[in-house]
Amino acid sequence: LRPRTGPTYVASVSALTRLLSSLAVLEQRDGKLNHSSLGAVTAAQKLGGSITAFVAGSNIKGVAEEAAKVAGIEKVVAVDNGTYDKGLSESYAPLLVENIKKGEYTHIIAGHTAFGKNLMPRVAALLDVQQVSDITGIENEKTFIRPIYAGNAIATVESSDNIKIITIRGTAFAAAEAEGGSASIEDGVDPKSEPSVEWISENLTKSDRPDLATAGKVVSGGRGLKSKEDFDKIMLPLADALGAAVGASRAAVDSGYADNSLQVGQTGKVVAPQLYLCAGISGAIQHLAGMKDSKVIAAINKDADAPIFQIADVGLVGDLFDKVPELTEKLNKQ
Ligand code: FAD
Repeated sequence: LRPRTGPTYVASVSALTRLLSSLAVLEQRDGKLNHSSLGAVTAAQKLGGSITAFVAGSNIKGVAEEAAKVAGIEKVVAVDNGTYDKGLSESYAPLLVENIKKGEYTHIIAGHTAFGKNLMPRVAALLDVQQVSDITGIENEKTFIRPIYAGNAIATVESSDNIKIITIRGTAFAAAEAEGGSASIEDGVDPKSEPSVEWISENLTKSDRPDLATAGKVVSGGRGLKSKEDFDKIMLPLADALGAAVGASRAAVDSGYADNSLQVGQTGKVVAPQLYLCAGISGAIQHLAGMKDSKVIAAINKDADAPIFQIADVGLVGDLFDKVPELTEKLNKQ
């Protein structure tokens, strides 16, 4: 490098290395920033370099202002257009690509959520680069850690792509502080491409209980519950006694005992609460992939040899139809 004397120095630095510049793709719903998507900002902070946030949707100003307050973000790029409200990847991917090209970012980071899983592979394909999915760690700007084989092996992957398209596992990157920042806000580019798909409606399961993905405590039921009536009768009072979210194994979901949105595991949600209390779940590897990072795992199962006891911190061998109501009653008396 030449001595630091004016523009010549800057030119030679940029010729040698591209400065790190991350774009964190943040999620919003109904004009409110989704705070669980702020893990993307935390991942960008781990990388270092400048951090820009991207938001899009109708009346986006409020969301952009919320994002501007997030600690660590320098700039918010916002696109105000109702076409992007629901995050449909068919229109969102070309939008994001245009903004990526304009901003010359080195890393594009989104959550490994339904939104991120749908969007980012399309973005990677449009940019002709390879996506790095569901990372749980960052070694350096091109080396990332990600679980494979349902979490049974941990891969260290290196990307030589110019732009790195990354999704992050929510349980591995805590949300960045929602306050403390004062980023600038600027309008993004809107290609206004004709949408190829149309949003018709959505049917969301409404619940007053904590959100499964971010809850501090989760109570989860499996096939051992035998029916939807018993799942509701046994597990829901326990969840209420603990102030916990409700989860389920895939067998319980497939048998119709619990809603699909409650599935924990490889093909469901990945959770890492302070307490994961499960009953009537055997502990198949695909289920463990979604909960084994929980701080305390407690299991109730009538089979002392059930694999769940191999990873449980606390285990109770017994009939859940006796033990769970007994526990709920004791908790309610406290
Ligand atoms: P079971 O394995 O049938 O276990 C029921 C348990 O309840 C048993 O251990 C039994 O001892 C106990 N029990 C029964 N009655 C009582 C009682 N009265 N009191 C106490 N205990 C009792 N599974 C997931 O959970 N999540 C996933 O995301 C997922 N993804 C998958 C992806 C793939 C590609 C595949 C192939 C499978 C996937 N599975 C997933 C399924 C997984 O392999 C198991 O089949 C499933 O987790 C089993 O659910 P379970 O433990 O509720 O049922």
